Amino acid sequence: MTRKHSCYSRYGALVCALVLMTFIMLSPMMAVAQTADDIQWDLEADVVVIGAGGAGLPAALKAMQDGASVLLVEANWDVGGHAAVSEGNLHNGAYISEQQKYDIVDSADLFYFDHTRGVPFTTRYNDREVVRSVANFMHVSYEFFLANGIKVTDAAPTARNYYKDAINQNEPESVPRQIKTDGSDWVNQFTGTAVAGIGVTRPLEKSLRDQGAKFLLNYHMDSIYREEQLSGKVLGVQATYTRPFCLAKPKPLRAL
Ligand SMILES: Cc1cc2nc3c(=O)[nH]c(=O)nc-3n(C[C@H](O)[C@H](O)[C@H](O)COP(=O)(O)OP(=O)(O)OC[C@H]3O[C@@H](n4cnc5c(N)ncnc54)[C@H](O)[C@@H]3O)c2cc1C
Repeated sequence: MTRKHSCYSRYGALVCALVLMTFIMLSPMMAVAQTADDIQWDLEADVVVIGAGGAGLPAALKAMQDGASVLLVEANWDVGGHAAVSEGNLHNGAYISEQQKYDIVDSADLFYFDHTRGVPFTTRYNDREVVRSVANFMHVSYEFFLANGIKVTDAAPTARNYYKDAINQNEPESVPRQIKTDGSDWVNQFTGTAVAGIGVTRPLEKSLRDQGAKFLLNYHMDSIYREEQLSGKVLGVQATYTRPFCLAKPKPLRAL
């Protein structure tokens, strides 16, 4: 079996979680001396997504729906990442359809205000441009989730209370915005229980597979190849086979 794969991204469009990207940019592993001409590419796609988790799955799906061929490189034996074992709470707002259904008045401006006003104090440090963008496109991303098979429980959105300000006991959300995913259609192979997060990741995975996305499971992305060693367009990545490892089952499980 080929243990290493070089995956070529035709548009140089490499998508991965920001934290992951930052780590790799700082890592000495970036010191790849090969030039693009020396590299033997094994796989090719318009967009290569590193990590099929909470960020990677919707990013890949959007790229596919915009007409790109997509390859997802996932180190684990299954897709989903932390999102698959999460509580599946969708933190929304900005007067999305679920709020309208329950007569909860909200707006993009109110969401932006709540998440930048400094109560609780941690919201003071939120990046204004990111919050603005999240607020403006929240209804689009929420409908995108529903259109790709994610189901939510038939209950009014609630106000989240995780991030209470230690002094003022205030919440960032001035109106109810938290919606719970219904993961009951899916078996959670990670936990063996119906953790709601699987109701986010499996529908996105299924939608991707239905549209022809390719998954490279058990491959860890090790290196990013760029036009120059530390600059220029991303050309592709190198990924190495990782042994399937699953504590709960004697044999490795396969994704859908
Ligand atoms: C117990 C728990 C409950 C949570 N509850 C909620 C909630 O209710 N609502 C909410 O919004 N958020 C919740 N979260 C947070 C949410 O799950 C994360 O914010 C989200 O999963 C982050 O997405 P991500 O894509 O950055 O990481 P992940 O979802 O972890 O996905 C990253 C993927 O990348 C893969 N990967 C990493 N490095 C490489 C590499 N070099 N090569 C190939 N693949 C790689 C990993 O194997 C993984 O599959 C919860 C988290 C946990 C742990």
